[in-house]
Amino acid sequence: MSYEAESDKKQKPAASATSALRELHRLHQQLGDVRDRLERGPKQIKAREVNLVRLEADLAQVKADAKTARVGADQKQLLLKTSENKIADLKTKLNQASSNREYQALKDQIAADEMAGSVLADEILEALERIDQFTAAVATAEQTLVKGKEDLAKVRQQVAQQHDSLAVDLARLEGDLKTAEAVLPSDFRDAYYRVVKSRGSDAMAQVEGGTCTGCHQQITQNMHNALLMGRTVFCQGSCGRLLYLPEDRSPGAGR
Ligand SMILES: [Zn+2]
Repeated sequence: MSYEAESDKKQKPAASATSALRELHRLHQQLGDVRDRLERGPKQIKAREVNLVRLEADLAQVKADAKTARVGADQKQLLLKTSENKIADLKTKLNQASSNREYQALKDQIAADEMAGSVLADEILEALERIDQFTAAVATAEQTLVKGKEDLAKVRQQVAQQHDSLAVDLARLEGDLKTAEAVLPSDFRDAYYRVVKSRGSDAMAQVEGGTCTGCHQQITQNMHNALLMGRTVFCQGSCGRLLYLPEDRSPGAGR
């Protein structure tokens, strides 16, 4: 920075400080927005990846349920088949019964086995209905998983595209910020860097109608006078932001 440039600015510190702070605030807000959007992309991807893991677990669970139901139904069908064979044997023995007592005992046994067989047959029907439900649930879970994968691929692509344009915006705004910081009057510099370091894009606030727009607290007459004189003024006793006047109220403009 040349000596001439420095001395030139010192001739009108108030106006240049106000407009420089206003411009810096605007740039910090835009930078904050661009950085937020850059951070949001990976979060959006992460959320969908987490969702996909859940959908895969759901599918595995419903597949396991379907398998358990199928195994259970197969076992019951095997039991029914065994019972039917046993009943057929008993019926053969019934025809060959040598006494009334043996005949009656076999008849009672056949009746009991047939009753058990009919209960088993009902249970098999219920199990087959459950298998149908689980099969449908597996198909639904598979479709949901496919959609989840498509969604993730789409968001990854969108985020990658946005990232490129946001990175360009970020580089441009960071350059603009450096330029704007270079023309900030030197007596503002320490206060500015201190507050920006601790508060980032939320470091400054415009005064409107005698109120800090950062915290909506009324500023004192002393603070207002100091602002008009182009001094460094913080929102004292309240939010602590570095304050500046709106364009139409800035010293040297429209007075
Ligand atoms: Zn405030």
